[in-house]
Amino acid sequence: MPVPLSIGLVAGLVAAEAAIGAEINFVPEGPEFAAATEEYQAIWKAEGDLIVNALQKATGLVLEPGPIQAIVYEGVSYSGYRERPMRMRASYPSDTKRATLVHELSHRLISDVAPRHVDQHPVIFLFVYDVWLELWGKEFADAQVAVESARRGRYDYESAWRDALALGAAARAERWSKLVAEWQRP
Ligand SMILES: [Zn+2]
Repeated sequence: MPVPLSIGLVAGLVAAEAAIGAEINFVPEGPEFAAATEEYQAIWKAEGDLIVNALQKATGLVLEPGPIQAIVYEGVSYSGYRERPMRMRASYPSDTKRATLVHELSHRLISDVAPRHVDQHPVIFLFVYDVWLELWGKEFADAQVAVESARRGRYDYESAWRDALALGAAARAERWSKLVAEWQRP
């Protein structure tokens, strides 16, 4: 039945275009995080579509539509996975809230594509800097690399960032394409 088929196709295209922004429900872990939660909500309302769009453009991957649960609290930020909520640090300055949303969503974006044993940071750093750059400019991107590089703990962000930036944009994009092609090979 050609007519319903073509209608279905058009509806599918419209739905795909409309599905660009992912839904994130930011929830404070306690009343003391209400203001930080409102800030995350405002960022997401104003820039969520742009963020998702830039991530998808840079990677060729499609982010889950959500709703993604995100708990705002005072602790290390985590991406979560599917039903497991994201956790976002309340006390970051506004720019680092934005940068960290891109960072944690990048983990979610690759989590069903990258093999489990893969160290995800060298992978997401192949596009996170370039997404920051596109959305908020070089000053922002360089400042957030410095913020992440200063983090001390179980992971050496400084080395991972140094290696990613040493490649340059073209080599980062090329390495990313090769990795994705490798992982998606049947
Ligand atoms: Zn991370």
